[in-house]
This record gives sequence, structure tokens and C-alpha cells, in this order.
Amino acid sequence: MTEQLYLEDSTVDAFEATVERTVSDDRVVLDRTHFYPEGGGQPADHGTISTEDGREWRVVDVQKHDGIHHYLEPGDGVADEELPAAGSTVTGELDWERRYSHMRYHTAQHLLSALLLNEYDAETTGNQVRAHKATLDCAYERFHDDELEHVEDRMNELVEQARPVDWYVLDRDTAEEELDPERTRLSLLPDSITEIRIVEIGGTDDGDEPFDRTACAGTHVENTEEIGEVTVTGRETKGSDEERITFELD
Ligand SMILES: [Zn+2]
Repeated sequence: MTEQLYLEDSTVDAFEATVERTVSDDRVVLDRTHFYPEGGGQPADHGTISTEDGREWRVVDVQKHDGIHHYLEPGDGVADEELPAAGSTVTGELDWERRYSHMRYHTAQHLLSALLLNEYDAETTGNQVRAHKATLDCAYERFHDDELEHVEDRMNELVEQARPVDWYVLDRDTAEEELDPERTRLSLLPDSITEIRIVEIGGTDDGDEPFDRTACAGTHVENTEEIGEVTVTGRETKGSDEERITFELD
């Protein structure tokens, strides 16, 4: 399985790796990668992969299968269906503007999920991050305008409080014992998963209880102030007792 470097350090925008194998005529699997594969409501990273002899491909999609598949399109001087050879060293470079935007939106989504659960008992049922907006679905009858205004104010407060964001791995038994099941929904994970990656949004002072702890394999910013100003742009009903909230970041 490809080593998932983005799980440890989400601040890296370029890296070297070895091509483990090619798949059909448009994909490579690397031994290690910082390219995030689509999942958990966060889109795949884009960018480029280049070889030491100067050939370059555009990374147009990344998907997790048996290893992480990087879908390539030929750049300048590269023939159709030509791929970097298995065993060769390549440099990967992420489209950082796109990735960083996903990190900001994804971290904002954690804040919003925790806030909706704390204040409205509304559990998140789905979420989708894009580069310029995000949506979150939750179990709630209907949000009124004054509630949406309150949500927006609270989100901006949490951003301004510059809360630290950390991630670490817990073994499953410990996670099930220590974490709030409603937030982490560990029971939904297959039994085969024995190690859980926890993303924690801290309190405002050392020693405070964290604001949120969730099982998540996405990429996040390291402090809520990186999120920037939040605007709640709307709501719509997703059927009985389900609401969709849309928000944008400055
Ligand atoms: Zn996350």
C-alpha cells in the first residue's frame, strides 16, 4: 500500500517518490505520496508528476484502490499513453492553492459539525468540500434565518479564537472507550480497522477540554484562524428532518 504522507504532514507541496507500477495507460501507483485521494467529502488533489529527464504529466485525479492511483494526462513533450516507468524516481508537485482551500473548508466543516451538534443536537449526515464552497447535511427540521446568523457568528468566533488543530492515531479500543460515539461514529467503520486517526480541535487555553474530536482521514489546517472569514450562504431542505447548509470562506 502506498505510504500516505499527507496523513502526517499536510503542509508539504512537493515530494520525491518511486513509481511502483503503472495501471492501464493513464495511471501510476507510487511508493509514497502527498496527493490526497478523493474521500470523506474532500476532493482529490491535482498537480504534476515529473521525471528526472524533464518529462511532465498533469495529475487530474487521485483515487484510493489497491494503492493510491494517480491519474495522469501527458504534458509537454510526452506522447499519449506514455507513463513514467516502474522503478523510476519522480517529483510530485501539488496544486497548492486547491489543496489549501480544501484544508480550510474541511477544517471549517469540523467546526460546523461540532457546533450544530452542541447547540442544535443536529448530527452531520453528509458533507462535500469544493475549492470555493462547501455543503453540510444534518439531521434537523428546519433552520430559520436567525439561527443561520447565529451559526455564522459562532463559526467566526471559533475561527478568531485561533484554536489549535492536531491529529494523531489511537488504537480502536482506546478510541471507543474515550471518545464521544455520537461525534466519531466509530461503529460505522469496518471491524478490520484497528487504528483510528483522530482530528482534534483544541480549547482556547492549555488544559481546556478540546472543542471537538473526530475520526477523520482528510487534510486540515493547523489552526482555526487559517480558515478565515466564514459566510453561511444558504440552506435547503433535503427531505423530512434533513437540512443542507452551504457556506463560503473569504
Ligand atoms: Zn476531517
